[in-house]
Amino acid sequence: MSDKPKRFPLPLSSVVDKKTPLERTSRTVATPQAATKNAAWGSSQLQPIVLKSTSTTSSSQVLSAAKAMARPAQTANHVDRSSSLVSDAVRKAMVNRVARQGVTDAKVLAAMEIVPRHMFMEPGLASQAYIDASLPIGHHQTISQPYIVARMIEIMRANSQGGVLERVLEIGTGCGYQAAVLSQVAKEVYSIERIKPLHELARSNLRPLRIPNIRLHYGDGMLGLPQAAPFDGIILAAAGLEVPQALLDQMTIGGRLVAPVGSRHQVLQLIQRISKFDWTSTTLEDCHFVPLRAGTI
Ligand code: SAH
Repeated sequence: MSDKPKRFPLPLSSVVDKKTPLERTSRTVATPQAATKNAAWGSSQLQPIVLKSTSTTSSSQVLSAAKAMARPAQTANHVDRSSSLVSDAVRKAMVNRVARQGVTDAKVLAAMEIVPRHMFMEPGLASQAYIDASLPIGHHQTISQPYIVARMIEIMRANSQGGVLERVLEIGTGCGYQAAVLSQVAKEVYSIERIKPLHELARSNLRPLRIPNIRLHYGDGMLGLPQAAPFDGIILAAAGLEVPQALLDQMTIGGRLVAPVGSRHQVLQLIQRISKFDWTSTTLEDCHFVPLRAGTI
């Protein structure tokens, strides 16, 4: 773990510099889901937004920023990545699909509806952002499927505190999408990534959203983040053969950890800490994640 925590909000340069608009690049239909999405998009376009620089950015400001990013433009002929062609309706369709798949936690669904998933994809794949699939983000890693993101957070929130989460830890920041969703349901979000270029990618993806309660760390998440522990929620976005003991030790009593476990066959596991020395483990549904690996690159 070599970097200092990255603090949000970060400078706005990446937003205000993005003045060069691009034509919408692709309406290519690769999958049935994409076809549905393209139909829902219609021909609307989005305009770039410039966020106001304020010293205190609340969650609701983040939400309105995200909403503004997804707002169709009345006049713009061009768009750039930070305001690509995604309507609220398309994201809502994704959330409805996630709900049909069994996610019922309204707060999680609301968070999924707010976070502009397309802003976490490379431009060539932004048109696929709202299909229910994991998609490549480079370095042989993927952005997780919307359903599993929602499901893991829902499981984590089903605690004895009525869903209140003070401090959560994510292992495997990837492009930063799940961290952004987590920021809407927890007071503080810490997220660790072991691949430096992905850590940087997440930072630049999150910058325009100016989310004040996310701290990104570059390091080996298998070691957790002792300096910020304990956590009342921990989510692993990569699958190990077992959950590292360091992470179990960094849970609060009553804390909940959700992790994919296994290699070729993986299951989602919920671990609850019930006392200083006791944890319970519950096996939930099958899942598929990239592997959890030790060390940094
Ligand atoms: N949370 C992401 C998913 C990223 S994929 C999303 O929002 O879609 C899983 C990520 O876990 C990869 O970027 C991978 O590099 C990372 N990872 C794997 N092992 C890790 C470890 N020990 N520490 C930190 N990150 C790890």
